[in-house]
Amino acid sequence: MVPSTRLDTPADHLPEHLQMIDDPASGARGVIALHSTALGPAAGGCRFWHYASDQDAMNDAIRLARGMSYKNALAGLPLGGGKAVLQRPAGAFDREALFTAFAEAVEALGGQYVTAEDVGTSVGDMEVVARHTRHVAGLTRREGRAGGDPSPWTALGIFKAMRAAARHTLGRDLDQLTVAVQGVGNVGAHLCSLLGEAGAKLIVADIDPARARTVADAHGGSVVSVDEILGVEADVFSPNALGAVLNPQTIPALKVALVCGGANNQLATHEDGYALFQRGIAYAPDYVVNAGGIINVSAEYLGETVEEVEARIAAIPGRVEQILQQAAQDNRPSHAIADSMARALIASAQRVPA
Ligand code: NAD
Repeated sequence: MVPSTRLDTPADHLPEHLQMIDDPASGARGVIALHSTALGPAAGGCRFWHYASDQDAMNDAIRLARGMSYKNALAGLPLGGGKAVLQRPAGAFDREALFTAFAEAVEALGGQYVTAEDVGTSVGDMEVVARHTRHVAGLTRREGRAGGDPSPWTALGIFKAMRAAARHTLGRDLDQLTVAVQGVGNVGAHLCSLLGEAGAKLIVADIDPARARTVADAHGGSVVSVDEILGVEADVFSPNALGAVLNPQTIPALKVALVCGGANNQLATHEDGYALFQRGIAYAPDYVVNAGGIINVSAEYLGETVEEVEARIAAIPGRVEQILQQAAQDNRPSHAIADSMARALIASAQRVPA
């Protein structure tokens, strides 16, 4: 049994349900956290990672599930938020047996939770899960259906969000802007293509210098080091690499007017959103901006078409603008406004009688 633990979580962040997983035969051990099913089945990926304790794993699942609730709500999806966290066994293990045990736990929730890939899990793992439950997405793309690599969709949403946020905060279009892009992997490289086509001037950095050079050369941009990108003079800083990139060390050095990128959990803490606000730097909240990926993944589960995915992504810039407008009006940071909007959407669904 996973021992019961104190939840290191404020009361209003508590999940609706925690489903423990403990299958010594396969080594599957962890938790599925359903933060909210008010708007629909709780959707969110399965993280497979080493945690120091069961409590750490549970706290991470709860925090990530809440994030999924907010992201799905503001993406306009008929989905709540959930997350599975599985402990990666220390020694050798049978991957198929482990993900079969996980699939059985997903199936036992009867469709209240929909899983997909996350850090440490792959399409192959989800294909194993799909043999035992239909409540899974992120599978190999089937002809004529939405699905497949979410990165281009994520990049499209970021691009549209950045264009709207720049017009709103700077009164300028992308062809008049310099964008500093941190990380040119799957998402960052697609984003640079869109920005390059739109006439933006690009400054890029990646821990892989060859990748940075290729992307910069393709769009007439320049390359700086991974340290320099955080203090380079530009209009927009676009984080597309790591989480927690906006923190007490980096925020004072930023020389931009707007932050808008696809990385998850850009703010190291809630307080860092206030620090950005105090510096007068506009922030397009990460989970609103980068929702294109979950929109594409959930379309696969919901059986939607590519046109429906495009329509949902087309709504991202309007939502970002609404958040920035409300932030200016209330003189509050945009990340706090986004959280309040998501909570209000979830609460209004809870009030609708079944
Ligand atoms: P990726 O691994 O393909 O790309 C990340 C890139 O960042 C790599 O090229 C890596 O070399 C680079 N990088 C790592 N550390 C760096 C540093 N310190 N400075 C500069 N570059 C650095 O990942 P991705 O799929 O492009 O995702 C990027 C971010 O977007 C992640 O935070 C991810 O969680 C988030 N995100 C991705 C999607 C998606 O659809 N792939 C959806 C939502 C959010």
